[in-house]
Amino acid sequence: MTTDFDVIIVGGGIAGAGLGAEIAGRRRTAIIEAEEQCGYHSTGRSAAFYLESYGGPDVATLTLASGAFLESPPAGFAERGFLRRRGALHLSESDWPRIPDGVEARRVGRAELEATVPGLDPRWTRAMFEPGCADIDVAALHAAYLKAFRKAGGTVRTNSRLRAATREGGRWSVALADGQSLSAAVLVDAAGAWGDAVAGACGVRPLGLSPKRRTMVQVRVGASGLRDLPLIDDWLGRFYFKGESDNSIWLSPHDEIASGPCDAAPEEIDVALALERFSEVVDWPVEQVERRWAGLRTFAPDRRPVYGFDRVAEGFFWCVGQGGFGIQTAPAASKMAAALLLGEPLDPMLAGVEPALFSPARFASS
Ligand SMILES: Cc1cc2nc3c(=O)[nH]c(=O)nc-3n(C[C@H](O)[C@H](O)[C@H](O)COP(=O)(O)OP(=O)(O)OC[C@H]3O[C@@H](n4cnc5c(N)ncnc54)[C@H](O)[C@@H]3O)c2cc1C
Repeated sequence: MTTDFDVIIVGGGIAGAGLGAEIAGRRRTAIIEAEEQCGYHSTGRSAAFYLESYGGPDVATLTLASGAFLESPPAGFAERGFLRRRGALHLSESDWPRIPDGVEARRVGRAELEATVPGLDPRWTRAMFEPGCADIDVAALHAAYLKAFRKAGGTVRTNSRLRAATREGGRWSVALADGQSLSAAVLVDAAGAWGDAVAGACGVRPLGLSPKRRTMVQVRVGASGLRDLPLIDDWLGRFYFKGESDNSIWLSPHDEIASGPCDAAPEEIDVALALERFSEVVDWPVEQVERRWAGLRTFAPDRRPVYGFDRVAEGFFWCVGQGGFGIQTAPAASKMAAALLLGEPLDPMLAGVEPALFSPARFASS
């Protein structure tokens, strides 16, 4: 088995798979993934929606640049698009919600809200409707990236945890937990919640990444016709839910609990909080909590993702801090990261994106 590569990507989630697919045809690339499956952590636990207004104006440039690819991917990458439109209603008890420039949205008053969301509590008087919100088929997108990566000659090694890496003679020597070793000129840190831990194991100064736990519950309720309802959230960020089947929803209390990198699990108190907040939105009785899970959303100190070579550590490339938007930004972010890594011009789809905003150079420590 080959052990020498041009690029080794640490982490096989959407960040590592997306970047890998973009560079594998031009560099001998390996993805090393600690778990048995590449999407085991955050990528496999998302709420799976595409929401252009989410994450602030800078993240919105990456999301907007990704929309066309997700809607209608290039021939050969996937047979159909990854989006299923449902729209989003951002609810408010007082002021009109504010939506970033460039994102299509319109005001909705109480009468229209009542018609759209039967049983809505009277406290919700206003909303902004964002028609572009869609579900993303995350599993299909992630699988398409891994397929494209392999097709272009990339190697995926699961059950391969980076333990340490050292730089010598212009190459990284990577020691795996199972005792094997690999080498590459460039090491990409796409390790999600472990981003700083991987940097530390390579002798690179961490960025100050913060993993935060988010809880999701699938709830069967005493109401029907929910599947195509818009995503419904509180503009002030206390909950969101969307129809999963005719009479069930995916619900989150919008929690953001500091955590170390780990196999995140839901806490009872957060499940209870989700149900309590839900009871303040609609009068649909909760019949059963069918499923619960949690995952980590990992943020850089300024909550913008980080793409680019470390300023100090030669050949160390950051691809971290995708927070709660790593899926919806994946197409644009992967193309941008590939251009930065290869030293090539930006793809035209990135016309509205400013890569310097996402550079690790913005942190004094990098
Ligand atoms: C509950 C929840 C809801 C979300 N909802 C949305 C949403 O609706 N839309 C959206 O766009 N985003 C959403 N997100 C965010 C999105 O899931 C993440 O931004 C994205 O999955 C991050 O991808 P990643 O590849 O960076 O991380 P991960 O998928 O966690 O991948 C990192 C990988 O690195 C591996 N790794 C770590 N250390 C090592 C090591 N030493 N050696 C080898 N491998 C290693 C891990 O095993 C892991 O598989 C949500 C996240 C959560 C938790």
